Amino acid sequence: MQNNKSEYTLESVTFNRYSSFISSIEKSPIDPHYSFSTKAIHSGQSIDSVHGAINTPIYLSTTYAQKEPGSLYSSYDYSRCGNPTRTAFDECMAALEHAKHGLSFGSGCAALTCVCLCLTARDHIICCDDVYGGTQRYLREIATKRCNISVDFVDLTDLDSVEKARTPATRLLIIETPTNPTMKICDIEKLCLWAKKHNILSLVDNTFASPYLQSPLLLGADICMNSCTKYIGGHCDVIMGTLTLNDTELRDKLFFVQKSFGGIPSPFECYLALRGIKTLKLRMEEHCKNAQIMAEYLNTHEKIEKVLYPGLKSHPGHDIARKQMRGFGGMISIYVKGDLDAVKRLCKSLRIFVCAESLGGVESLIQVPAIMTHASVPIEVRKKIGIEDNLVRISMGIESIEDLLKDMEDGLAMV
Ligand SMILES: *Cc1c(COP(=O)(O)O)cnc(C)c1O
Repeated sequence: MQNNKSEYTLESVTFNRYSSFISSIEKSPIDPHYSFSTKAIHSGQSIDSVHGAINTPIYLSTTYAQKEPGSLYSSYDYSRCGNPTRTAFDECMAALEHAKHGLSFGSGCAALTCVCLCLTARDHIICCDDVYGGTQRYLREIATKRCNISVDFVDLTDLDSVEKARTPATRLLIIETPTNPTMKICDIEKLCLWAKKHNILSLVDNTFASPYLQSPLLLGADICMNSCTKYIGGHCDVIMGTLTLNDTELRDKLFFVQKSFGGIPSPFECYLALRGIKTLKLRMEEHCKNAQIMAEYLNTHEKIEKVLYPGLKSHPGHDIARKQMRGFGGMISIYVKGDLDAVKRLCKSLRIFVCAESLGGVESLIQVPAIMTHASVPIEVRKKIGIEDNLVRISMGIESIEDLLKDMEDGLAMV
């Protein structure tokens, strides 16, 4: 899986490093050689054949007339099983993730649940240790306790511990990179190669990077998962998730599970996600630029103990990030010098950054994982992976960087 030539610039996302793979992917109504934004704006989104509307209509109908019993007008019969607005988004996501198939869900959690529901009792999962809090909750509380699936949470930056965790029952490897909230970088290509060798399905949660910055399927992953709630929707107004993949048999299995458990998105959400994704490239470039500047500023600030951002040369995952990402993303975590109260003072005194969970929207957000997003993670696990009380996670928005720097400077003066 050889990224021959590495064209590492944000401005020209020519995907040169992956060109041999792209040409091997058939399908997609839009020429697969088109660049990212062309696909984001057009893939799956043909002109409406009835009125010529250039935006995909929101098909609210739950059911579809049949010409005679068993004979459909197109492929739709009941909206849980398929909906034209959803299909448009599925196809657009598939195109952007270099996949043959896309499946959308009512949330990122529902997308991940769908994959886990393809396993059977006594199967084993290896999962990244500082995986998203909701993913941990599902695996610890539902998969383990109710479905009799065992899970090992492992530091995926250390391939030896991954190999040690493997059992004959291991079926699924869940990779998240960059990780949340400690911004570790896992080597997707290496991990997926290892998984393939042992016949283990590999899934990459691509939420932090988005398809604009990272293409897990081209790096060997079997399934790519995105919480569209974040960068893809991009405006903090839609909860949705997707799976993209190339294996048709696996797609059919996932689709069967999806229509059985029913975690689908509404047509309106599909529309919002389609609307958001059209500007993903523009937004991601701004997120990356703002984050790099902010990370460098914080890195020299006397009130900051440590900055976790893969774009800093000092970050242990910097080289791998350079290799597998086209930019370092908009998420920064920092250890503030001080205790929980100091951190709370910082969050309260900021005027542009909003203190809130979630990420990936145009607005800058700040939060304290230990008492917010990761409060449900057992305390001993939190300590082990570095989610201390003074850890603060920042989602850099696309406001003017001058204003954001000033706001941060004023806020840190209160720490
Ligand atoms: C938010 C998030 C999820 C879950 O997505 P929802 O859409 O909130 O269900 C999964 N993984 C990561 C990395 C996330 O940030």
